[in-house]
Amino acid sequence: MQEAIKQKRTLRLIKTTSASKSELKPMVNSDDYYKHVQRYAEQIRKTTDADEIIRILDIVLSETRGLRFNEDVSTAHEQVKHAEEKIESLKSELEQLRGLVQTDQMTGAFNRRGLEDIFKREAARADRNAQSLGVVLVDIDNFKQINDNFGHQYGDSVLINFVAVAKETLRPTDIVARFGGEEFVILLPDVEMENALTIIQRVQNNLTRSYSAYMNENQVIPVTFSAGVAIRSFGEHQNSVINRADKALYQAKRTGKNRTIPALTDH
Ligand code: GH3
Ligand code: MG
Ligand code: MG
Repeated sequence: MQEAIKQKRTLRLIKTTSASKSELKPMVNSDDYYKHVQRYAEQIRKTTDADEIIRILDIVLSETRGLRFNEDVSTAHEQVKHAEEKIESLKSELEQLRGLVQTDQMTGAFNRRGLEDIFKREAARADRNAQSLGVVLVDIDNFKQINDNFGHQYGDSVLINFVAVAKETLRPTDIVARFGGEEFVILLPDVEMENALTIIQRVQNNLTRSYSAYMNENQVIPVTFSAGVAIRSFGEHQNSVINRADKALYQAKRTGKNRTIPALTDH
């Protein structure tokens, strides 16, 4: 009896050791696989973060693939393949959904929620690589007047056009997000102030050109914007850097609009 208990303990000990080793290796056996899947399902239930869910699904997917080469389940290859396909389609649905949740439907720019996620990612990357991150707050000038004079739908088209022109002008790695109403945030990874000011001036020039392209001289409605530019310092939080850009934007409005002002560096 004593001997049996002792043996059981020993067996259990061995099992624990092999389970912890299996974390480092691809799947060991189907028992472990089911246990892992249960644990991942639990983790998925607990989180609302799509990135986290996609990360977990990736692990499940790779473990499921590992299972295909396992002798335990050689007779169940078809089911394993089916499970793989299901996980893959779940993952792609989730990726699509994440895109929708993070995008402003009208302009196709990121929305505020998307900006938050991307800011975190870009800020972490900037800190890791000791790079700067330019943060620009843009506000369309006299937008209420544009709406009043030409209608809300025309106002909408001005917002859509702004995003299209900004995306065309900027690098693919730059980010355009709608911050609210007629305000936008542009993230410019790895730029210095002088550089950022030139880039934003180029957006304004292209915006002006986009209107004169399909209207004759006396029809041209000048769509301009004001902007504040802050260069994020190491470890600086999103609210702090946007706040600095906002103060500079306020100065741009106060001193006559249609201009870009650099933010103060102290915060
Ligand atoms: P300023 O030059 O000082 O920025 O003045 P402004 O008229 O641009 O700013 P204000 O904040 O007074 O007006 C912004 C307007 O934007 C008011 C709001 O009705 C309008 N707006 C907000 N969202 C949308 C939208 O999605 N479409 C349209 N067409 N208008 C919008
Ligand atoms: Mg505004
Ligand atoms: Mg405005």
